[in-house]
Amino acid sequence: MWVDGVCIGGDSPIVVQSMTNTDTADVAATTAQVAELARAGSELVRITVNNESSARAVPAIHEALDRQGLDVPLIGDFHFNGHRLLMDYPDCAQALAKYRINPGNVGRGEKRDTRFAAMIETACRYERPVRIGVNWGSLDPELIARLMDENAGSADPGDADEVMREAMVLSALESAQRAEALGLGRDRILLSCKMSGVQDLIAVYRSLASRCDYGLHLGLTEAGMGSKGIVASTAALAVLLQEGIGDTIRISLTPEPGESRTQEVVVAQEILQTMGLRSFTPMVTACPGCGRTTSTYFQQLAKDIQDHLREQMPRWRDRYPGAASMQVAVMGCVVNGPGESKQANIGISLPGTGERPSAPVYVDGEKVATLKGDRIAEEFTRMVDDYVRTHYVSHTM
Ligand code: SF4
Repeated sequence: MWVDGVCIGGDSPIVVQSMTNTDTADVAATTAQVAELARAGSELVRITVNNESSARAVPAIHEALDRQGLDVPLIGDFHFNGHRLLMDYPDCAQALAKYRINPGNVGRGEKRDTRFAAMIETACRYERPVRIGVNWGSLDPELIARLMDENAGSADPGDADEVMREAMVLSALESAQRAEALGLGRDRILLSCKMSGVQDLIAVYRSLASRCDYGLHLGLTEAGMGSKGIVASTAALAVLLQEGIGDTIRISLTPEPGESRTQEVVVAQEILQTMGLRSFTPMVTACPGCGRTTSTYFQQLAKDIQDHLREQMPRWRDRYPGAASMQVAVMGCVVNGPGESKQANIGISLPGTGERPSAPVYVDGEKVATLKGDRIAEEFTRMVDDYVRTHYVSHTM
């Protein structure tokens, strides 16, 4: 499936997605955040389209991004009134590269069917793919009631959790079948079933993957804040990705007040890169430090190097293909420092407490220099930059 130049599914690399948390009607704020997410590496960005003013703003956001030379595909997130907004605001329908429809928030009974049909028909008219995004928190109550009744009447009833998991999968599959019956091609349909429990998510996606061949979007919903959100998302997604399940991913982190929204992009990239599935930015191997590193110098250098690599990567991506897979080691002392540094493309072993104040640098396994004095950080950074320039094919003339 192609979403505005981004290929999803099959053997294509797993795509990183994110979502804004600005008021979409605020064109300047939303454009700025989409741009920030895209520059951080988000390959698709979802924005909420929840009312008329946000629907009106979507084409303006798209144009503003265009003017900045950013062609990141925008995905419209629709609930409750999406049928009407897509109908009444054709420029919005046109500006969006994909629509996300939550079948639990489309309406009830006949209304649900006509509204769902209206959105699918819009997708067909504009040749847009659709993600049918089921969410545990807004699961279709009629479907739950039906499955609960069937379960109660069965000879071997399952527990309530099993019924809920099955309801998630069925909601996605039945909605996808309805979309196909309405004329949307199989290759224009992606499914997601987001839940906040790690084991629930794994069970539901395994079931989904075994019962269909639609593209799948993965994400633990309401993952939470800080390390809890990161750990829970990683635990769930790593299991599924390892099994070959998932075509796009999003990490739904709640940012700390004032924290950048881009953290969810960085975490998604790091999951894929540490699993060896994609390369986005050179990785720094750093030891945790111990009683042999009583100053914070080496922690600061590891952080500065990681930040420097992340900053340079947008420039390096096209100019030095392959640089994203570079391994850099920043180690705290002689115990494991030389060994880890030799394993990396370029590594430095800093002096631990009581060691001679010198820092050997290794390039491709060979010791090439010993840095001393108070400019070790600058000199090592320069050596890393030189390594990139001399070891990856430059596309500049
Ligand atoms: S490499 Fe040295 S400083 Fe780092 S954790 Fe190991 S012993 Fe401690």
